[in-house]
Amino acid sequence: MTPREILALCREHQVRAIDLRFMDFPGTLKHFTIPVQVLTEKSFEEGFDFDASSMYGWQAINESDMLVVPQPETAFVDPFLPHTLCLSCNIQDPITRVDYAKDPRNVARKADAYLKSTGIADEIRFGLEPEFFIFDNVRFDQTINQGYYHLESAEGEWARGKFSEGPQSNAGYQIRKGEGYFPVPPGDILHSLRNDMMMALTECGIEIEAHHHEVATGGQAEIDLAHKPLLQAADLLLRFKYIVKNVASRAGKTVTFMPKPLWGDNGSGLHMHLSLWKDGETLFADSGYGGLSELALHAMGGILHHAPAIMAFCCPTTNSYKRLVPGFDAPINLTYSFRNRSAAIRIPVHTSNRNSKRFELRFPDSSSNPYLAMSAIVMAALDGIQNKIDPGPPLDKDIYDLEPGELDNSPKTPVSLDKALDALRADHDFLLRGDVFTEDVIDTWIWYKTERDVKALRERPHPCEFLMYYDI
Ligand code: GLN
Ligand code: MG
Ligand code: MG
Ligand code: MG
Repeated sequence: MTPREILALCREHQVRAIDLRFMDFPGTLKHFTIPVQVLTEKSFEEGFDFDASSMYGWQAINESDMLVVPQPETAFVDPFLPHTLCLSCNIQDPITRVDYAKDPRNVARKADAYLKSTGIADEIRFGLEPEFFIFDNVRFDQTINQGYYHLESAEGEWARGKFSEGPQSNAGYQIRKGEGYFPVPPGDILHSLRNDMMMALTECGIEIEAHHHEVATGGQAEIDLAHKPLLQAADLLLRFKYIVKNVASRAGKTVTFMPKPLWGDNGSGLHMHLSLWKDGETLFADSGYGGLSELALHAMGGILHHAPAIMAFCCPTTNSYKRLVPGFDAPINLTYSFRNRSAAIRIPVHTSNRNSKRFELRFPDSSSNPYLAMSAIVMAALDGIQNKIDPGPPLDKDIYDLEPGELDNSPKTPVSLDKALDALRADHDFLLRGDVFTEDVIDTWIWYKTERDVKALRERPHPCEFLMYYDI
């Protein structure tokens, strides 16, 4: 859409407010609003001022003015805010008019440009499968304590251990533990809410492939998006999360994308189905392992080789590593396999259609900033292709059922965020190519994640410590 077409769209839908949105550095959606009269064709070049010193990890106070520049291709009419059109923005320096290096969307644009510049492919496509929990929008003290732990500090109720079966009010048809995958209503009490989400998403221009209840008992959902090129996939995931959270909120529920809200049950991943394309043809289908091309196997080799480092972007919270433990369909070994869901990379079965050849990356989760996570994945895949990195032998057993010692020599996912940050510190040259991630972006990320996430958790007495040590 051109700026002129956006203005026509505003008239057609009686739009009165323009919501300008962007993703901050850690991965949260931000916005501010202008009256529609203020938006002109020129706005799409000139942008609007904002204070970038109030954003985590961005500008210092003495250089705080930055611009948001709306991008016409990201427009959609907001289904929740009346008469409102939303536009995602790029961030620019108001003096030099250079795109901001720490704008995540800019990192993704540069990753895309770098991919094209290598001549290897002209497009990378991502098919995303976000999983999330839907809980009742209740105060913690209204939930049923399931016996994990329950502590109230003087300051309030933060120390409650488990949300319990939040939304499960129908005692007759409770989903049994670990059996959340595919029950029909009335067992699937979230069905109509997911349908509402699907319809709102479709109306806002997001192509949905399917939705279903997920494995976890406590109200877990999955809604799958059709595969799209890098930048569009990330833009649409932002919109997806916004819509899903707001549909739930209207129904008196709350959605969380945190990777492991319930101890002892499945967590929520963001599986990513990847494929590379050139001149409209897939580069992934051939006669190699799992029907993949050599190029696809090298791309996997690059991703597995750099996995500990890129996980600092793909699994960037302390909670991410509580999901990556044995027994919950989440990967713990950096291996690949045809059909096997317990490997970090799975190659789905696809018989007839060569254009659907892809592999599924299973470690990412939705606590990531999708622009940074997907860009890091592209850079690792390209390094694999450029340096012909061998992904090693596939693993076709259920990894969780192997004899002790069988996997001792296979590389593992990092056990904690600080370990992933260490890996990123030691291994990030491949991310700097094409100026995609700058040293400043890497340093700021490591600093921010260490101070804000790792230390915050490490320095606080944890509810579980009360359970383990209070009576010692
Ligand atoms: N929830 C699992 C994960 O954390 C995946 C389960 C599935 O999609 N079968 O990755
Ligand atoms: Mg799925
Ligand atoms: Mg799933
Ligand atoms: Mg999947």
